[in-house]
Amino acid sequence: MKILVTGGTGYIGSHTSVELLNSGYEVVIIDNLSNSDASVSDRIGRITGKTPPLYIGDVLDEALLDQIFSEHKIDAAIHFAALKSVPVSMADPLLYYHNNVTGTLSLCRAMKKHGVKNIVFSSSATVYGISDDRPIGEDAPLSPKNVYGNTKLMMETVFSDLYHSDPEWNVTLLRYFNPIGAHESGLIGEVPEGIPGNLMPYITQVAAGLRPHLNITGTDYDTPDGTGVRDYIHVVDLARGHIKALQNLSGLGIYNLGTGRGYSVREIVNAFEEATGIKIACEEAPRRPGDLACYFADASKANAMLGWRTEKTLHEMCADSWRFAKGYYK
Ligand code: NAD
Ligand code: UDP
Repeated sequence: MKILVTGGTGYIGSHTSVELLNSGYEVVIIDNLSNSDASVSDRIGRITGKTPPLYIGDVLDEALLDQIFSEHKIDAAIHFAALKSVPVSMADPLLYYHNNVTGTLSLCRAMKKHGVKNIVFSSSATVYGISDDRPIGEDAPLSPKNVYGNTKLMMETVFSDLYHSDPEWNVTLLRYFNPIGAHESGLIGEVPEGIPGNLMPYITQVAAGLRPHLNITGTDYDTPDGTGVRDYIHVVDLARGHIKALQNLSGLGIYNLGTGRGYSVREIVNAFEEATGIKIACEEAPRRPGDLACYFADASKANAMLGWRTEKTLHEMCADSWRFAKGYYK
């Protein structure tokens, strides 16, 4: 089977491409390199022995999509290509709606034109917005609190409406919790743009000596140690969830991909220090506006229906994040 991976040189797309190739799928990548590097496809080749063809271009470019679907007999697409910064999405909503939502419409049109009706989509736990339900199940209320989350919910709506208009479509929406970690080879991983907004990329920059300390944003939450709790998932486990999703594509499916357990910021810092032997200087800082104290997935549906389970430990998440970052920042 041949899979079109949009955004396949990005963080999650590259790890998923590795898992696809290792599982015997063929992979074709389209990426405009707005947040990644062309060398990633060679790195995927070094890991798997198979370098996937990379089309450098935009999913908004329907002529290019037409060309790809004409040149390859694609069986399914996994759609990662999107912009993902919450603050940038608030500052420039038109950019985010155009890139993410219009880009998705463009992909769907091209797929429909070429009779390819199988898609796995990268959604996000941000579609749930603020919720007191813990753990969060797929039927929790949907109420994104920022423009990025709005684009994800709109894209989910596009896919489910498409399915309802034509049940020949098979659509799986995967709602990711907090991916961290990297491939154990250290060849691919997450490269943050500018000052990292997320916890693990910030920690690795402190470890690399690029930043003096980590600001712990919120130490007075109603959590065991006062710091925010999230469901961190190793990106390789997440990537493997996409293989299971492809194997089980049937009708419309919606699944959380998380470990089902939360760790606090202080637990992450301690685990990182233990895994790497590097001390992370920390300072207490105010809460980030709009942050939740604690959320983590109810992943039982993906466990039961997809036969998927996370395998990697927090220690591996930290050690693998650092192995990649150390090589990248040296
Ligand atoms: P990433 O930025 O590393 O990868 C996205 C890739 O898509 C990049 O290589 C970028 O160059 C490409 N891209 C963006 N817009 C494009 C376009 N219009 N045409 C072609 N290529 C385009 O991000 P990631 O962390 O790998 O995220 C992948 C997907 O997962 C995204 O849809 C993101 O919203 C979603 N997601 C990510 C997280 C996370 O924490 N990383 C959490 C939940 C959901
Ligand atoms: N966090 C922190 N310092 C940082 C970045 C994040 O203390 O520099 C905290 C944040 O308040 C939250 C947790 O780490 O409790 C995870 O934040 P991240 O942005 O990685 O994920 P999200 O909150 O978007 O799920």
